[in-house]
Amino acid sequence: MTALRAWLLPALLALAACGPAPAPTPVPVGTQVAARLTQTAAAPSVTPPLATAARSATATREPSATATATATMELTPTATPTATETGSPEPPARATVGLDTLPYPPVTFGGAPHFYFGSNPGEGFIASSYRYGSVGPGQRFATHHGVDFSAPEGSTAVAVAPGTIYYAGSDLERQFGPQTDFYGNVVVIQLAQTWNGHSVYALYGHLSSVLVTDGQPVAAGEAVGLVGASGVALGPHLHLETRIDVPDSYWDTRNPELWLTPIGGYGTLALRVTNSAGFYLPGARVDFTCSDGAARFMETYWYNGVNPDDEYGENAAMMNLPPGYCDFTVHANGATYDFPNGLVQAGAVSFVNLSVP
Ligand SMILES: [Zn+2]
Repeated sequence: MTALRAWLLPALLALAACGPAPAPTPVPVGTQVAARLTQTAAAPSVTPPLATAARSATATREPSATATATATMELTPTATPTATETGSPEPPARATVGLDTLPYPPVTFGGAPHFYFGSNPGEGFIASSYRYGSVGPGQRFATHHGVDFSAPEGSTAVAVAPGTIYYAGSDLERQFGPQTDFYGNVVVIQLAQTWNGHSVYALYGHLSSVLVTDGQPVAAGEAVGLVGASGVALGPHLHLETRIDVPDSYWDTRNPELWLTPIGGYGTLALRVTNSAGFYLPGARVDFTCSDGAARFMETYWYNGVNPDDEYGENAAMMNLPPGYCDFTVHANGATYDFPNGLVQAGAVSFVNLSVP
């Protein structure tokens, strides 16, 4: 298996993705608002190539007057497909996913954030080129059921939340991945806290050793293992998953970036990219720039066994974004679509829906 080869490059990208701290002010979490920001499509214009597109946030945009908790926005594109787009941002035919076979996005979305995990299970940053639901650089890897932290060999993996050790040991004989001997040395924590009646688990993969035993209670921040490259990993990193209700099931994961607490002053984005019929658009690259001016990108879930969040119904998500407005460019159908002014709020999950014509 080559599923987890993507840890090296992402380490660099992830560093860039964190960017300089803008010293923002946290916004208290309150009730959901439906600040639906519908913008009419502007006249067709040519979208400049991404490499030369000088996209930066302006200081003149007014924040939404309804800035609390989960910001819900529906953005419409400001540009129609360009005929001059070169290259192929579209993934190859690997994902022969019939759009109508995907789950239809829920009509309702939002709700209170469930930041049950601490901001980091150890050292390092989340690998930006192989996020949850993506297939890695060049679409070479299996759909990722977790996120990878670029943690060094032998560094300490810590409990992201208080709970009880459900399993600690090798997966040679007990299967947690698509096969045995996939995650190598595994630790699974059952969180003390449940979510809407569901059990929540944090799975750590590829450890060089485990430091806990089955049934052991752990406190948040307590060491549970050492980072390694066991199982199918080709280099040391920390693989983290969120599993709901069925801790042994590779198919019952959610995006950990919606469970990890963003670092102080930053926020989390839940993105939904759909087509004109309202179906999820799988494998679409989304480039975006937020208030710190850093270039970031996501890839929408390929749906080979990964799941949207039960509340957000997203098909991409990213944590630790600076608050303020972000401008998005979606690559789909051989074209690019610009969606300006999606608002990210500190300490919250901001939901943005990008509907591609
Ligand atoms: Zn991984």
